[in-house]
Amino acid sequence: MRVLGLETSCDETGVALYDSERGLLADALFSQIDLHRMYGGVVPELASRDHVRRAVPLIRQVLAEAGCSLQDVDALAYTAGPGLVGALLVGACTAQAMSTALGIPAVGVHHMEGHLLAPMLEENPPAFPFVALLVSGGHTQLVRVDGIGRYQLLGESLDDAAGEAFDKTAKLLGLDYPGGPEIARLAEQGTAGRFTFPRPMTDRPGLDFSFSGLKTFTLNTWQQCQAAGDASEQTRADIAYAFQQAVVETLVIKCRRALKDTQLKRLVIAGGVSANLQLREQLGAMLSKLGGQVFYARPRFCTDNGAMIAYAGCQRLLAGQQDGPQVAVHARWPMEQLPAV
Ligand code: ATP
Ligand code: MG
Ligand code: FE
Repeated sequence: MRVLGLETSCDETGVALYDSERGLLADALFSQIDLHRMYGGVVPELASRDHVRRAVPLIRQVLAEAGCSLQDVDALAYTAGPGLVGALLVGACTAQAMSTALGIPAVGVHHMEGHLLAPMLEENPPAFPFVALLVSGGHTQLVRVDGIGRYQLLGESLDDAAGEAFDKTAKLLGLDYPGGPEIARLAEQGTAGRFTFPRPMTDRPGLDFSFSGLKTFTLNTWQQCQAAGDASEQTRADIAYAFQQAVVETLVIKCRRALKDTQLKRLVIAGGVSANLQLREQLGAMLSKLGGQVFYARPRFCTDNGAMIAYAGCQRLLAGQQDGPQVAVHARWPMEQLPAV
């Protein structure tokens, strides 16, 4: 089965063609980062309008790269939530219109299920069951995964998501958006041990997270240094290092705890923050001590993309699931409500 996937939940238009027998045939992405930069965040109405502009040219590009025509597409998958409603509607309406015109099925995909399954596109994909750490711009969740649609939420952030914490902290330090890669880059020049930041909520039991205090701690540290006449690039890098290390170590501690509680030895990390090299390295070290393994997608498929939606949609379509004629998107949508495959 050949599935065309459309991702339009936020500020990235992603399109991909996935073949259940041959794997990923082509994928293309247009990021709206430059469009929203001057506003310091995503402007929903601008995002929707740009998805309208980009969707069809990207679909044409993907089909051309795969050497396929519209007639070679067997089904459509689109992100139905969670995300910005106007942006989601662009992908949903495009998919539904194509579905009607071509007489082929369409299926709405949960964006976080897409992220969660992205590592399945790599060689040596993880086998079920596993623990998943979803760390993106809007979510920080630990999930027990027993199969597609068989999700049990183990813990989540009570305030900022990990990616959001990176983005907000980067802004406080005067860095560009998105902040995750900027902090990671600056932290490479940082000195270990000059500053030590707290590891929030690690001193009590449970698997929930809280990252907003860390952002305030970073701001206070940076302001104290500046007040003392030290606003050097080295100091800024040392602070970025301490912040990143605190986030990474907190995530490692909670992942170790989740693996212990579930007695599982496979960990999947997904979402934009799973592109972070320190996180990958330190989780890898923890898992090798446990005799387990950590799985993640190539960096391009950690952040939003059409390939993960095409893949997740394909699995659901193969299991016989598909949409009715109505278009429905969900700004909020708990992943545990999804049907099992
Ligand atoms: P959600 O998936 O929850 O709806 P989103 O789609 O906006 O949110 P993603 O596209 O998965 O989120 O990821 C974007 C986030 O990943 C941003 O917050 C960005 O700063 C972060 N990020 C990307 N690369 C890195 C990195 N190398 N280190 C840390 N964070 C990173
Ligand atoms: Mg994005
Ligand atoms: Fe995302």
